[in-house]
Amino acid sequence: MLRLRDGLKDGLGRAITYLRVSVTEQCNLACVYCKPRTGTLERMETPAMSRNEVVQLVKVFTSLGIRKVRLTGGEPLLRRDLETIVAGISPEVEGRVHLTTNGIHLARRARGLREAGLSGVNISLDAADRSTFERLTQKDGLGKVLAGLEAARAVGLKAKLNAVVLRGWNEDQILPLARLAQQDGIQVRFIEFMPYQGNGWGKDQFMPAAEILRTVQEGLGTDLEEEPGLGLEEGPARLFRIPGSEGKVGVISTLSADFCDRCNRVRLTSRGELKACLFGNQPVDLLEPLRQHASHDDLVRLIRQALTEKLDCHPMRRGDQPNLTQGMWQVGG
Ligand code: SAM
Repeated sequence: MLRLRDGLKDGLGRAITYLRVSVTEQCNLACVYCKPRTGTLERMETPAMSRNEVVQLVKVFTSLGIRKVRLTGGEPLLRRDLETIVAGISPEVEGRVHLTTNGIHLARRARGLREAGLSGVNISLDAADRSTFERLTQKDGLGKVLAGLEAARAVGLKAKLNAVVLRGWNEDQILPLARLAQQDGIQVRFIEFMPYQGNGWGKDQFMPAAEILRTVQEGLGTDLEEEPGLGLEEGPARLFRIPGSEGKVGVISTLSADFCDRCNRVRLTSRGELKACLFGNQPVDLLEPLRQHASHDDLVRLIRQALTEKLDCHPMRRGDQPNLTQGMWQVGG
């Protein structure tokens, strides 16, 4: 069986240790920064990969040195078999299976997921205020998300919050979310709004990480203390301690300061395609070959070939448009 002695490397020698898997493109929210501006959520396809296929493909990656897996979507909690998927993957990565979710269904699934081997959860929460939440997501769901956060923490899942900031939509939520982190001793990471297929990105809505940080600092009236770099496996965020609290604030500056030279991640889309770069590289189908009984070694060759072509940095850094054929809900963020 083909294994890479030195782990999985891309064409530029970057070690690839982190796999994100979109397990469905269906979602129960319609976030303004993510959803297609044309078409409806109902028209999205049911999960393309069966749970066995997800686990089989993940195992090919883990045999090559992937050490951490994040399940995402669409909304991964819409899959009833998510616990089985987690249980199938967890032993392969020594329990380093994480989930990114909008948290709507988390309260009743948290315990089962923990028991299946999930170790952490990132909950997307872009507003601490009920009406802003509804305006951003088209659903009155803030209470359910907060209940999901509480349940996740109660069963021992490492929980973090992720908030995408859009000027004109939720910049007034930066401070309330930072206060939530301060009070509850949790981590909230603010993500720069990224252009993606069909999401109507515009410069007027873009708020750079530096301005987000300034807003937190001025609002809390305290100097934030930066944590030393944790390495990309812990995520691409710059993290800051909030004095007097266990809470932390982070920023993910995908556009204003990229971290491509240290990129350690690849993605498996909801259709079973390998996406070497979030903003570039055409997807490479792994699902059809798997269904056609490709051998483990054949799949390894496809993965290695795709990784030799992984872009050095995302196209916007060079002033080019990203070449996107899929939406964020298919690629998984
Ligand atoms: N439904 C799940 C959720 O809400 O977390 C998982 C899928 S969602 C596509 C994964 C992550 O991508 C979320 O944290 C979301 O906020 C982020 N995301 C989606 N579109 C984005 C955009 N245009 N810019 C920045 N982050 C985005």
